[in-house]
Amino acid sequence: MHELSLASDIIDTVKQTLSHEELPSLRKIVLEIGAYSGVVPDSLSFSFEAITAGTELAGAELEIINIPFRLKCNQCKTEAEPEYPIMLCENCGSSDTVVISGDELKFKEFKISESEE
Ligand SMILES: [Zn+2]
Repeated sequence: MHELSLASDIIDTVKQTLSHEELPSLRKIVLEIGAYSGVVPDSLSFSFEAITAGTELAGAELEIINIPFRLKCNQCKTEAEPEYPIMLCENCGSSDTVVISGDELKFKEFKISESEE
């Protein structure tokens, strides 16, 4: 259900960003989603399609760029991409780590049909 409310948030943002004339020409919404964000991309695409079916956004699709989960160790400064939710440093085993990517959930760009290459 999280993805369903996220999909409707995306549509709200699209409607605020694009003019009424541009909406039917929208072809792609490019999103960056981190592995750590808790969002299931397939589920989000499915929810988006279900909500937009029969609307002016029916021709638009989501393009999801997956951002890997990356940790940095505060002790030895090693950066690694462990399997989430492992929060330990691969090098020294410390739990004193910070997430440096993977919690993203943001719009990257909108593609309107006229501007397509
Ligand atoms: Zn370390």
